[in-house]
This record gives sequence, C-alpha cells and structure tokens, in this order.
Amino acid sequence: MSKKPKFQLPTGMHDILPEEQKYFQKIYDVCETIANFYGFKKIDTPILEDTALYEKGTGLTTDVVQKQMFTLRTKGGDYLTLRPEFTPGVIRSYIEHGMQTWSQPVKLYSIGPVFRYEHPQAGRYRQFHQFNLEVIGESNAVIDAEVIQIFYNILQELKLKNLVVEINSIGDNQCRPYYKKLLMNYFKSREGALCADCRRRLKENPLRILDCKEEKCQREIRQAPQIIDHLCEECHHHFRGVLEFLDEIELPYRLNPYLVRGLDYYTKTAFEIFFETSQKTENKETFSRDALVGGGRYDGLIKLLGGEDTKAVGGAMGIERVIAAMKTKEVKVQKAVNPPVFLAQLGTMAKRKSLKLLEEFRRARIQVGESFGRDSLKAQLKMADRIGAKYTLLLGQKESLEGTIIIRDMITGKQDIVKLEKAVREIEKRLKR
Ligand code: AMP
Repeated sequence: MSKKPKFQLPTGMHDILPEEQKYFQKIYDVCETIANFYGFKKIDTPILEDTALYEKGTGLTTDVVQKQMFTLRTKGGDYLTLRPEFTPGVIRSYIEHGMQTWSQPVKLYSIGPVFRYEHPQAGRYRQFHQFNLEVIGESNAVIDAEVIQIFYNILQELKLKNLVVEINSIGDNQCRPYYKKLLMNYFKSREGALCADCRRRLKENPLRILDCKEEKCQREIRQAPQIIDHLCEECHHHFRGVLEFLDEIELPYRLNPYLVRGLDYYTKTAFEIFFETSQKTENKETFSRDALVGGGRYDGLIKLLGGEDTKAVGGAMGIERVIAAMKTKEVKVQKAVNPPVFLAQLGTMAKRKSLKLLEEFRRARIQVGESFGRDSLKAQLKMADRIGAKYTLLLGQKESLEGTIIIRDMITGKQDIVKLEKAVREIEKRLKR
C-alpha cells in the first residue's frame, strides 16, 4: 500500500489538475462571450472583504454567515472574511466607486473562487467557483427575466439539457412581514415536528424553514401558507411581469411557492436553475437534481450597505456543479491542440542552437514540442509520434556544424535538409499547404 503523503488537501478543497482545466476554460469562454453580448463588464473584487460587510449584507441570520464563513484576524486586528458569495463585495465596490453616477443600469460580471465552511459531500466544496452577474440600477421586471435567460442560455450553450427553472416571489418589506407572521403561527403550532435547525430558524426567520431539506420538515412545509397568496399589489404586478417576459421568450419555468433562497437580502423575484437526471438500476429508477444557478432581486441591499436607494437583480452559477453535469451528460470538451512541429536535438551544440530556434518559432507563433532534457533521439522521436506532430525537426552534431536542419515529414517519412535560418519560414510554408 502506498504511504499517505505528509501534506494533503485541506478538507473540502480540490486541485484543478491540467486535465480538468479544459472544462473551466470552456465555461469561462461561454460565460464571458454571452455576458459581453448582453452588455456586462467584468469586475474583480478582492477575495477578502471586511467581515462586517457579509454580516450586514448576506445577513446575520443566514447559514452562510452563522456557520460557513472563513474568517481571519489580521496582524492589525481587523476581521476579514474569504468571500462566501460575490454580491456584497460587488455592491461595496459600486458604492465606493460612485457607480451610481454611471449610466444605469450598471451590468457587472465576475468569475472566481468562493469559500464556504460546509460539510463536504459530492458536489459540495469549501472552495468552489462561481460565475456571477449583477444588474444594478434597474427595477423593471424585464431585467429579472433577462438575468434568468442569460444563465439559461449559458447552460444551453454548454449543451446541457434537462434544465428546470424554478421561480417564486418572496415579496418585499410591504408584504413579507405579514406573511412571516402567518408562517410563524403556522410552524409554532407544529414546532414539535420540526428539526432542531428549524426550531432555531422559527425564532430567527421562519422563511428559512421553507428551505429545509429534512423529510419531516418537508411534510409540514407542504401544507404551509404560500407567499404568492399574500403579495402586495406592487410585488404581485412585478412577479406577473417577470412571468410574462419569460413566456414571451418561451423560457420554460416551474412556479415553486416555497423557493426562498438562503440569503437575507432578496426581494420579489427568487429563482434557481436545476439540472435533473434519472438513473435506472435493475427495476428501479432514481431521480436526482442539482442546483446549478441561484439568484434574485435585491432592491434593499444597496441602501442597507450605505448607498442610495437603488434596485438590483443578480445571480450566481456554480462552476464545479456545471462541470459535473457536463460529465454526466458526456458533453465533450475539445482537448488542447498538440503542437504541429517537434524539435529533436542531439549533442550539446545542437541543444544550444535548438533553444534559440525555439524562440524564433515562438515569435512566429508556431507551436513546437520539445524535450530538451532528453538525449536519446529514439525517445524524442517517440514523443513526436505521441503528440501527433506533422513535422519533426532534427538537429544533430553534423547539422549544427553545417548550419542546417533536417525536416522530417511524419506522414510520408520523407526528409529534407534546409538551412537553419530558413527553418521557420519553411515550416510556415508547409503548414499553410
Ligand atoms: P448560492 O449562492 O448558494 O445560491 O449558490 C449558487 C450556486 O453555487 C449553486 O446553485 C451551486 O451551483 C453553487 N454552489 C453553492 N454552494 C456550493 C458548494 N458548497 N460547492 C459547490 N458549489 C456550490
């Protein structure tokens, strides 16, 4: 049995090995192309922010703030937190840079790692990556529909099918307090049937109970009053607007009256996009679903964080989850292309000249494979074969002295000798043919 390495990955973290990079690259390319098409600009905010930003923004009663933050104390005594989500940092930046004076709405996207101290399991990491969108300074329902459409388009562009968009309205501070009271009364009378977490949630925020996955809580949730029946006129009108826009673009969705999302700042629209799969084992079929995207409207957050009263909507996509979905659907991602040319060398003088020649190829933007550490010609030719090079350049002692190089056509096996200084031009010519 092999010995355990002395140092191992921290719990819930993962390396992205070279083989995995092509998925990230593909997803980043699709996200950025689509975000640019819809007029979004990229923003990078620091991975560390003031802990108080998340306590205030994400919300003190959320699981993210209560249980999942990686917080550290700096040498100067400040408390900083590794971002558990993008939105509060982006809003801090919006306010700090006076973006309310820019042409509104400000459309921003970000990609990068986020950190949550969660119980690790399949598809749930402590460091994972999100693609995040924010549209700040727009209250019209058409933008809510557009944000959902963008995420849906990205997932479709990545060839994912069996996507389910779930949508709900969670009201605003006009109508939600009354609904919360109704929920409180309902769950209070069933407190004994709830899990320990939900009994705590009942005191802090009964809405959060609707998010619980425990079967015994689910049984009670199914009978609970629905917010949709208690929305104020404005929220009702807004929600109808979002649904009409989704109907117009023929984006399929399911109404989920119990979708509340885990963060405090949402108002009105809340949505998630799931990837559903079914697996047949013997005579049983099992269904599973994974949340790929979550988002919604957050009209109160900018003011809460010290900015002007500004309406906004956004969402985030979990990149590792999307990769897992692509793999179950066997979505092929193109491998990096191998270099068309291999440069083999033999002897010290040839090695020196090869190093210089490689630079010439780089300047000419021609990819060249090499294995300068190897001395055996046989091993180098084997490698040229393995990468599928069209041409191999051979530079030995004799050629180095004569200032020439051999070009070997790897398909026909034909070899030509050319002047060393003409090598790049000759290869360029042959590759164009
Ligand atoms: P949230 O901000 O919690 O709505 O998350 C948005 C998306 O990020 C989810 O729909 C998931 O795809 C992904 N996600 C959330 N938490 C994790 C995690 N711990 N590990 C991997 N992906 C996650």
